[in-house]
Amino acid sequence: MSIMRLGYVHVRVTDMEAARRHYSDTMGQKVVAEEPGKLYLKCWDEYDHHSVVLEEGGVGLVKLGYKVSRAEDLEQYEKALSAFGVTVERMSKGENLAVGDGIRFTSPSEHTFELYHEIEYLGTETGILNPESWPRDLRGVGAPRVDHALITAEDVETMERLFTEVFDWNVSERVIDNPADPMLIGTWMYCGMKVHDLAVIKGPQGKLHHFAYALEDWNAILKAGDLFAMDDVSVDIGPTRHGITRGTTIYFFDPSGNRNEVFAGGYPVYKDFPTITWTTDQLGKGIFYIQRELNDRFTTVLT
Ligand code: FE
Repeated sequence: MSIMRLGYVHVRVTDMEAARRHYSDTMGQKVVAEEPGKLYLKCWDEYDHHSVVLEEGGVGLVKLGYKVSRAEDLEQYEKALSAFGVTVERMSKGENLAVGDGIRFTSPSEHTFELYHEIEYLGTETGILNPESWPRDLRGVGAPRVDHALITAEDVETMERLFTEVFDWNVSERVIDNPADPMLIGTWMYCGMKVHDLAVIKGPQGKLHHFAYALEDWNAILKAGDLFAMDDVSVDIGPTRHGITRGTTIYFFDPSGNRNEVFAGGYPVYKDFPTITWTTDQLGKGIFYIQRELNDRFTTVLT
């Protein structure tokens, strides 16, 4: 059984045309399909149909979609989720544009997750036969792919148990409040070899903190920052580095107020990676390694 990656992030936006400019012109994603009130976008180095869905009306997360490696995984996950006490429903081909049959569940954190195996293949912009390093007509940031998401939950421990016990994910890093009597404040979990695929921090139910695009390196992060200045993007913090994951980062907001991140770096993780632990007295350094303190926005603005 295996979940391979975050396949799509579906968010609400208040103003579709402003969102289109942000995700397409500034971030460089390509619009692959449009429906009334919905826009589907992919990054240049992604081969599946889409990785971001924008839906007009409001703000915040609609759902997260994760792709599994084998069709039979879906049935096994359906059983394992039920055994964990999570209600699961089947979703059919066509409920999501270009996505096949799958399962849908609401996590204990009240987020909607979808798991699927089939999604229409569009291919990357450089192809898979003698490809160039990157497409020369990149727009804006030219983000190659979507990377991870961070959501909030009242009970982080149960979310960590769900992903590690049901989906066999591992934990790269955790934040606890008191080593003598630990309560879990945050968990950074992975299903492949990237340092995290989903992180959960303590907070209100059902909220999105951010979703992130992976960029190549620190230079790309700095260049993204320049583009945010050119396009008047609201920047939360950065460029800087995370203590947790060691990634380099900028947090910023789309025009509706959904937080995005550009992220580069991190370290590879194997199934035997020994989890790193941070304590809350060092949380400032854990989140923003260089500044060593959290800004108010970072902890309070959620969508
Ligand atoms: Fe992140």
